Amino acid sequence: METILVLTHADETGSALTKASLEAVSAGLELSRRLSAPLTIGIVAADVKDLADGLPCAALAVSGEAFAQPRYSTDADACEALCRAAAATIVLAPSSSRFARVAAGVAHRLNGLIDTHITNLNVAAIGDAATIEATRWFYRQRVEAVLTRETRPWFLLLDSGTNEPFACAANTTAVEEVKVELPAARTTVVGIRAPKQDEQTIRPDAKLLFVTGAGWTKKQPDGQIHVAEAADLILTFLRNTGASLGSSKSLVDQGGEGQSVLPFLTHLNQVGQTGATPRHAKGLATCCHGEEPHVVGWRFIGERRAVSLDANCGWTRGKADVVYVADAFPVIAKVNELLAKGK
Ligand SMILES: Cc1cc2nc3c(=O)[nH]c(=O)nc-3n(C[C@H](O)[C@H](O)[C@H](O)COP(=O)(O)OP(=O)(O)OC[C@H]3O[C@@H](n4cnc5c(N)ncnc54)[C@H](O)[C@@H]3O)c2cc1C
Repeated sequence: METILVLTHADETGSALTKASLEAVSAGLELSRRLSAPLTIGIVAADVKDLADGLPCAALAVSGEAFAQPRYSTDADACEALCRAAAATIVLAPSSSRFARVAAGVAHRLNGLIDTHITNLNVAAIGDAATIEATRWFYRQRVEAVLTRETRPWFLLLDSGTNEPFACAANTTAVEEVKVELPAARTTVVGIRAPKQDEQTIRPDAKLLFVTGAGWTKKQPDGQIHVAEAADLILTFLRNTGASLGSSKSLVDQGGEGQSVLPFLTHLNQVGQTGATPRHAKGLATCCHGEEPHVVGWRFIGERRAVSLDANCGWTRGKADVVYVADAFPVIAKVNELLAKGK
């Protein structure tokens, strides 16, 4: 019989579990239902008061000021203690930067194994036994593999956006504190330096991905480049919609080539084979050719639309649901005007 533990942690406010943690709770609940196996939720936070309420089962918690901030030594000890206290054979955790950093180390301490970037869990009947099958993609989302393992504990890091976040009910949940002897901390967190919210263009939780291509910085029909205008149109669109900003490789590479470039774009915005594979309900590509190494990063985008001048571009060759063969400058200017009116 398997014993399932879902590891979760608080968000930056400390007063709620992260969305990715709640997605892992949904996955754990479904797995425990299909296996008829016991489920425990483990919480790592400074203060667990209120965090566990509404969860679907009893929780174990490691708490205290030392667990307010992500730090390898304290997080690894906390996760190890939770796994031991739950006697877990299957450990699910969100693929957050906080847990992705420690999960492999914790699996090693417990003589277990880990698989990462899991996008689906299934229970298959193989002979008389119920077997857990975990799905992940390889080779930049081109090959999908289904994994089974006999080693326990088996750690599975779940990619965010692959499960609905668990909707907490109004019940109170029993929480048992697990004591951890604090390791000698060599790392002290003195604060967080992050761009202001409106400067942050990568928004994984946004419904829309807005992708910019190299066309924005190329000579336009009047023979001129219009980078300042492009920057203004793009930033206004992002402000109006709250969309996340993606880019083609050609556009983000231009900074290194000494050409005019949009200053708010970095390689972190790049979508594709050598970039990110984000998950958004909708995507809109502008001034981008829709080549295969770029479009492979759109694997998990629900509905795809593109605006390109080229009626023969990759998008029109079956890679987008809707293509507007048009000049993106007036199109986005008009969309911005309509969005501003609608506000
Ligand atoms: C190993 C390898 C890995 C790669 N990895 C990636 C990756 O991860 N991500 C990635 O993006 N690329 C990747 N590439 C590069 C990829 O093949 C393309 O070269 C790149 O995506 C092209 O970028 P683009 O479409 O923005 O630029 P371009 O090909 O220059 O296309 C610009 C488009 O803008 C259109 N346009 C111009 N002006 C306007 C306007 N006013 N209105 C509307 N449309 C306009 C043009 O018609 C054109 O179609 C990789 C390539 C290789 C070989």
